[in-house]
Amino acid sequence: MIVVREAIRKMEGYVPGEQPQEEGYIKLNTNENPYPPSPRVVARLMEFLSRSSLALYPQPLSDRVRKKLEQVYGIPREWVMVGNGSDELLNLVFRVFAGRGDTVAYPFPTYTLYRTLAFLQEATPWEIPFPDDFSLPVDFVSARANLKVLCNPNSPTGTCVPLEAVEQLLSASACPVLLDEAYVDFASQSALSLLGRFANLLVARTLSKSFSLAGLRVGFLFAHPDILREVLKAKDSYNVSTLSQVGAEAALEEIGYAMENVEKIKRTRSWFAQAMEEMGFFVYPSQANFVLVRKRGENLAFLYEELKKRKVLVRYFREWPDALRITIGTDEQMEILLRNLREIVKG
Ligand SMILES: *Cc1c(COP(=O)(O)O)cnc(C)c1O
Repeated sequence: MIVVREAIRKMEGYVPGEQPQEEGYIKLNTNENPYPPSPRVVARLMEFLSRSSLALYPQPLSDRVRKKLEQVYGIPREWVMVGNGSDELLNLVFRVFAGRGDTVAYPFPTYTLYRTLAFLQEATPWEIPFPDDFSLPVDFVSARANLKVLCNPNSPTGTCVPLEAVEQLLSASACPVLLDEAYVDFASQSALSLLGRFANLLVARTLSKSFSLAGLRVGFLFAHPDILREVLKAKDSYNVSTLSQVGAEAALEEIGYAMENVEKIKRTRSWFAQAMEEMGFFVYPSQANFVLVRKRGENLAFLYEELKKRKVLVRYFREWPDALRITIGTDEQMEILLRNLREIVKG
């Protein structure tokens, strides 16, 4: 008989949002960017393939990408590591800081991958409820844990706690604090500026959302070199493929292109949120590329289902049935969504 670790047998695997194979969907369920990546990124990948060989292994530490990061963010390369998506980096941080019986604290609701990663470690997830206004829970600030995680801006709410609150958290915590900044380019502030002041701060970023490169799988982890030295021990030798490194380097050179798309998405977010409010939804104030809309006490499963029949995918969470998370697409996509919603509600 095959014996599987009890911790694995007992846990449920993380379930990512639907990725339909069929064409023709308006996909507003997994917070991808509706705009394509910079054409220069694509050109660079093609050019690379035409003249270089994939027979060789990639650089183990993604040196060229880290050099670009130094130029773009002004953070020395010893303070950053590159990952196969930021999910890999979150995984590594849990591996390094949360062992069996340890406690990982994070405000809840949030990205449910944290729970999965804690279970894989046989660590205990400590889910501390956000207050109604989604400010930082005081119990979380004072919690004694082996690792704290804060998704900021948070998913699935889109809400963001101010930098002063993050500073309080860092000062009050003896343990490492992992800030998941997957959506930070859509917000007005980042904790990167705090790096030099707090030796317990780790910041995870990704090219998946603001840079339109979810398929490339590249993330960054910024932290004090003493921390990164430990995290690096846990990574695969060649964790970031050659193509991903080439694409990431080009994308960072094209950050202006990405930030223009971010501005477009923020403008769309603003009018779309207002339109949803006019339809009677409560819309959480979002600093991300999605909005969480809510009709207190109503089960919105049927809205999700009806939209899906009309080829519009949004995210429905069984644990949070009176809310839907809607990615901000192009203006046209959001207009189609609204038109369908109005029809459904009327019918
Ligand atoms: C999308 C997302 C990630 C994962 O990003 P990848 O770089 O694609 O792995 C991490 N954290 C949160 C909160 C996300 O929404």
